[in-house]
Amino acid sequence: MKDRYGREIDYLRISITDRCNLRCRYCMPNGMENALEHSQVLRYEEFVRLAGIFSELGFKHFRVTGGEPLVRKDAVSFVAALKKLPGAESVAITTNGILLEQLAPALKEAGLDAANISLDTTDPRLSAAICGVPDVVPQTVRGMEAARKLGISVKLNAVLLRDIEDSIPGLLEFAKDGIPVRFIELMPIGFGRKDSGISSAEAIELIRGLYPDIHAVEGKHGSGPARYFESASLAAPVGIIDAVSNRFCETCNRVRLTSTGKLKPCLCYDQGVELAPLLRSGASDEELTEVIRSCIFEKPKQHCFDDISEISENKLMSQIGG
Ligand code: SAM
Ligand code: SF4
Repeated sequence: MKDRYGREIDYLRISITDRCNLRCRYCMPNGMENALEHSQVLRYEEFVRLAGIFSELGFKHFRVTGGEPLVRKDAVSFVAALKKLPGAESVAITTNGILLEQLAPALKEAGLDAANISLDTTDPRLSAAICGVPDVVPQTVRGMEAARKLGISVKLNAVLLRDIEDSIPGLLEFAKDGIPVRFIELMPIGFGRKDSGISSAEAIELIRGLYPDIHAVEGKHGSGPARYFESASLAAPVGIIDAVSNRFCETCNRVRLTSTGKLKPCLCYDQGVELAPLLRSGASDEELTEVIRSCIFEKPKQHCFDDISEISENKLMSQIGG
């Protein structure tokens, strides 16, 4: 459906849990300190009912995220249920990959189309410092390889933290091997405000130093906002997602559903509608549709990362789903 500014909104990110098996320092370094009660988190039937309404509203792309989505029991069945929605053209997951080696065959069977796998560095010591647990790089890479072998489309996502500069060459080795690698600017949400990142422009310069023929290419790969670059020496494109330094809000096509059932039309504002009370008090599909439609219609024109005093979202990224 279209919002007030004429943008076609057809992409829903669903955070199925606020829990995680890592403690990334820019996301949830304090672990389960403020973890939700199980009863606060929507049941899968509730998510599926809502996803069905989004599908009726013309949503085509669904992404399962978290916290770490694969730590929630039966995440695979949830993927299968999303795939059965009549309008679902793609169902994807964003994961740290730790449980992917084990779950990739079942996810493939469930119909998962794509997996974005978060890997900020291949340096074991830096990985431990970022993720807050001993080196997980081999496990993440095995998970990615398992998914890839089964024909699930995989991409690597790395957050442009100041201290991953030296990791960029190692991460680009994956692009040499045919895996798209995307660099995401650190966003000032949650603990991201306390960390330090580099801009996309700095990252592109670093990449150009390694691959002088790197050049921007037109066209989309997937349903997100990444800009892509190619080099004759790389078998896959390199993506840049620079929400902070290069606002792409005029082409934003997404809304988010948190694990507690809050529909969030924009990452940086607290604005949104709590759907759990409606779901749990017997609201009809028509009533839910109207509430959802009007929340999407009122999607803010743009984010306010250039003036962080305007950010009204106080949740952590693990609670929102990234
Ligand atoms: N646990 C899964 C994972 O790490 O892929 C899914 C949830 S995680 C919140 C989703 C994505 O958000 C990850 O790629 C993570 O690196 C990214 N992320 C978390 N905090 C961020 C921040 N402040 N700025 C930019 N990206 C962030
Ligand atoms: Fe967990 Fe993902 Fe957050 Fe890291 S970024 S702590 S893997 S939810």
